[in-house]
Amino acid sequence: MESSPKATNRPHAVCIPHPTQGHINPMLNLAKLLHHRGFHITFVNTEFNHKRMLNSRRCKSLDISPDFRFEAIPDGLPPPPTGDDDDAVQHVPDLCESIGNKCLLDPFRNLLARLNEGRSSNGFSTVNPPVSCIVSDGIMTFTIEAAEELGIPVALFWTASACGFMAYKQYWDLVDKGLIPLRDESYLRNGYLDNTIIDWIPGIEEIRLRDIPSFYVNSSTNANEYTMMKFITAEIEATSRASAIIINTFDTLEDKVLEAMKVLSPPLYTVGPIHELVKMAPTTPIGSNLWKEQVECLQWLNSKQPRSVLYVNFGSIIFMTSSSFQEFAWGLANSGKPFIWIVRTDLIVDSDSAVVLSPEFLEETRGRGFVASWCPQEQVLSHPSVGGFLTHCGWNSTLEALSAGVPMICRPFLSEQPTNCRFLCTKWGVGFEIEGGDVKRDQVEKVVRELMDGEKGEEMRRKAVEWKRKAEEATAPGGSSWLNFDKMVKEVLTAAS
Ligand code: UDP
Repeated sequence: MESSPKATNRPHAVCIPHPTQGHINPMLNLAKLLHHRGFHITFVNTEFNHKRMLNSRRCKSLDISPDFRFEAIPDGLPPPPTGDDDDAVQHVPDLCESIGNKCLLDPFRNLLARLNEGRSSNGFSTVNPPVSCIVSDGIMTFTIEAAEELGIPVALFWTASACGFMAYKQYWDLVDKGLIPLRDESYLRNGYLDNTIIDWIPGIEEIRLRDIPSFYVNSSTNANEYTMMKFITAEIEATSRASAIIINTFDTLEDKVLEAMKVLSPPLYTVGPIHELVKMAPTTPIGSNLWKEQVECLQWLNSKQPRSVLYVNFGSIIFMTSSSFQEFAWGLANSGKPFIWIVRTDLIVDSDSAVVLSPEFLEETRGRGFVASWCPQEQVLSHPSVGGFLTHCGWNSTLEALSAGVPMICRPFLSEQPTNCRFLCTKWGVGFEIEGGDVKRDQVEKVVRELMDGEKGEEMRRKAVEWKRKAEEATAPGGSSWLNFDKMVKEVLTAAS
């Protein structure tokens, strides 16, 4: 990986993530790598998230240096009701509908014009080179139009898995074969989802219908999933117009799917796990959290035995009912194992009280349970006391756990999390799935014990350590992701200069 040229006429990348935590994190890492490579960076958040990032860092500006600046554009949604707390979250399907309707295109165009005229948001002049490329989230494809208008390259950053991409690609084939939409709710319960095997997706040996992204399987029974299905199919379709696709995975992890994906997409560059690759370039430490981190959990972990603690976190966007929440709570309590559980203040969907942990639960888990609302996940996963991860199988969480050599208990909720879960449990050999409809405390207890104490759990830990080594190989100097990042910069982002 080459380091920064000192030329005055530097390339200028405008980096724009999808406005959710699981997309902002990898995009900021990519932006840091490009900055290290000599790019002037403008990082574009929505106004909503810009404010949240300022709040979580308790600062007035996010700018890192005159050549790494943050800008904000409106997201097209009405402002949240006044008086909302700092951790107010947005309704993701509404956000995606707004993106799909190109409500961000005009503000984005205006921003690009302003940057090219050398004007900052507060009207003062700013010194920046003309915008020379756009690095856009893979599901923000309205940016392709803006790039075409300026005649500059646009690379889409697909921040999810390659298996997720390939599964999303199958929408019309699944419809043509009569597998979706499900005719009615009974299909969700009668074994059809479990028993229908799909073995014709290029690069994917065999998955069940239930492993297909939830937006497709549930679109006929759930209005939000329907909105997301419409959004994602259009976004996937539009990816073919991009100059390139950058993807946060690594070759040895998803070799066959990547081979198949190459045939279908513009030039493809694997740069993952990007949270590891970024460590290869000394960059300014900047956090991208929308929530305030509770770092005390690291001290608590210091007091625990090696590999004794189960880490539980369901990511930034899923919600659960209070009855599921109670089943998880009592499953953890009954397992007898130490745990850290991240419970976002808005995690529970059908309760006004933010956290409904009963006094009995708190008494039962005193000294061995640590509950927080947000944590520095990468640090938690690589802490020596952590021996397992109960996860929703979000792609960043998956890569972060693999890179830390931590085996998983998988309970996917939505989007392509079921596809990731299938790969984790059957192909990569590092996960136990909690199957079935409503989760039960006995299932949770059993699987926690199996992962933390059982032989199978030990075998998965060994496999996870192998994946950690492979992830390190991919991101080390000369590794596939390390080389691909350089290639992508030369062949796509700076090809014309
Ligand atoms: N994360 C974190 N602290 C938390 C919860 C999540 O730092 O308490 C980070 C996590 O490390 C990951 C991202 O938020 O980088 C979540 O992304 P993921 O794809 O796993 O799930 P999503 O939130 O998109 O469902």
